[in-house]
Amino acid sequence: MADAQMTEADVIVLGVGTCGEDLSLQLLDAGVSVIGIEASLVGGECAYWACIPSKMMIRAANILQEGRRTEGVAGHADIRSEWAPVANRIRTEATAGFDDSFAVERFESRGGRLIHGRGQLTGPKSVTVGGETLTARIGVVIATGSQPTIPSIEGLQDVEYWTTHDVISAEELPESLIVMGGGPIGCELGQVLARFGVKVTIIEAGDRLLPSEEPEASEAVTSAFEAEGISVVSSDSVTSVKSQGSSIAVSLAGGDEFVAEKLLVATGRKVDLNGLGLESVGLATDGFIQVDERMRAAVGLWAMGDMTGKAMFTYVAVHQAGIIAADILKIDHAPARYDAVPRAVFTDPEVGSVGLTEAQAVARGLDVEVAVKRTPYTFRGWLDMAGYGAIKIIADRESGVLLGAMASGPRASEILGLLTLAVHTKAKLYDLRSMIYAFPTFYGGVGEAIGAYALGVQTVLDPEYEGFRPAK
Ligand SMILES: Cc1cc2nc3c(=O)[nH]c(=O)nc-3n(C[C@H](O)[C@H](O)[C@H](O)COP(=O)(O)OP(=O)(O)OC[C@H]3O[C@@H](n4cnc5c(N)ncnc54)[C@H](O)[C@@H]3O)c2cc1C
Repeated sequence: MADAQMTEADVIVLGVGTCGEDLSLQLLDAGVSVIGIEASLVGGECAYWACIPSKMMIRAANILQEGRRTEGVAGHADIRSEWAPVANRIRTEATAGFDDSFAVERFESRGGRLIHGRGQLTGPKSVTVGGETLTARIGVVIATGSQPTIPSIEGLQDVEYWTTHDVISAEELPESLIVMGGGPIGCELGQVLARFGVKVTIIEAGDRLLPSEEPEASEAVTSAFEAEGISVVSSDSVTSVKSQGSSIAVSLAGGDEFVAEKLLVATGRKVDLNGLGLESVGLATDGFIQVDERMRAAVGLWAMGDMTGKAMFTYVAVHQAGIIAADILKIDHAPARYDAVPRAVFTDPEVGSVGLTEAQAVARGLDVEVAVKRTPYTFRGWLDMAGYGAIKIIADRESGVLLGAMASGPRASEILGLLTLAVHTKAKLYDLRSMIYAFPTFYGGVGEAIGAYALGVQTVLDPEYEGFRPAK
């Protein structure tokens, strides 16, 4: 057990959230002494308010939707949704009632000291929390995460808007919801609630949902959303918000007004470096914390997770934790690189992307060729009656090296495994053409998109499929 009074340790971890906890446990298991400081719940955003509970919600919503697909295919099903089992699973299985006692005990049983409080750097290898000064022999690792961006919109601060935390901890659902922001989080949560009977309107300032993904992905998700009764408004933004009885009214720049019982603000995440004491070690407090490929921010100071601004995903944060553990333990580890970070959006249809989009390749002046095959016209997509989606491959024209890829449709987040390995290892189209694909599989659609299949009469004809074409 840890010495509860320990004020000096090999490593101090400031922010024992998603990657802070992961790193701490790795170090403790390797015999490195650790003091962890956590302002909220040990385990952080992913465990309590983000990945894990949201994916539990998505699983439940998808089961409902599969039931609704019975009609005309396999008989009839009378589907009546109920939120209570979802809220209950989140409370009991995911979050233990938003109580981190188990995680604290796990930390302390491995010999660490855990302090609940808001810590601050006071100089190299020195941190204060709650009036106590702590010293690190090896160094400090800082992993204080990100927060929702709340845009400055007239009237927004005067209404009780929801953030993702409110959706995740909701015991009951509203009748209607406006989602401000059509990025991955707004789309995922908006679709879940719509499938549970909430009347959902998503407002996106960009010209389409998921504006940073491929247009084919946006098109698939938008078509599916509209078919499910979700109202999608794009190329318009909220200019003012006000209470209207027990509801909230939002006005858009284009003149439209929408009213709903609740408003979810899902306009992205920001990093706030103020109040962390970074100036005491000579670091800037604007933007993200700057790190090298070993996650070092200064001598004896490492940073990881959302606050590094590399890619705000748990798997990136935890990958970075592995690099820091190796650096501290003096073990070999590949340096950080971010050219093949997978991006999964768990809407239905799912979207899985990696590497460059076509637009990014064009913006870099690269000479690329692009192939797109629509998922409903892949063999498995046709068999499974997939309604929406596409597989898109972007390759360097001369070398055939894969630069980026996107799958949307059923199991796209799993197809992403193949695509990520291909982009990560700089595979060539030749490699993807000469491998053998199991048939009929959704990932087999990758082979179909690049023309690797030659099954003659069995070909499912996509009238829009044109093989490889120059980038647009
Ligand atoms: C709704 C939603 C769904 C998501 N779904 C996914 C998904 O499916 N897959 C995925 O990979 N990513 C997902 N993400 C992103 C993922 O949650 C984050 O990228 C990840 O949690 C970041 O980990 P972190 O350790 O950097 O930050 P956090 O987990 O936020 O940890 C930071 C910790 O630092 C603490 N802290 C802050 N300041 C201080 C201080 N001064 N002193 C002490 N402690 C402090 C905070 O309390 C917090 O616990 C989702 C995000 C959201 C919002």
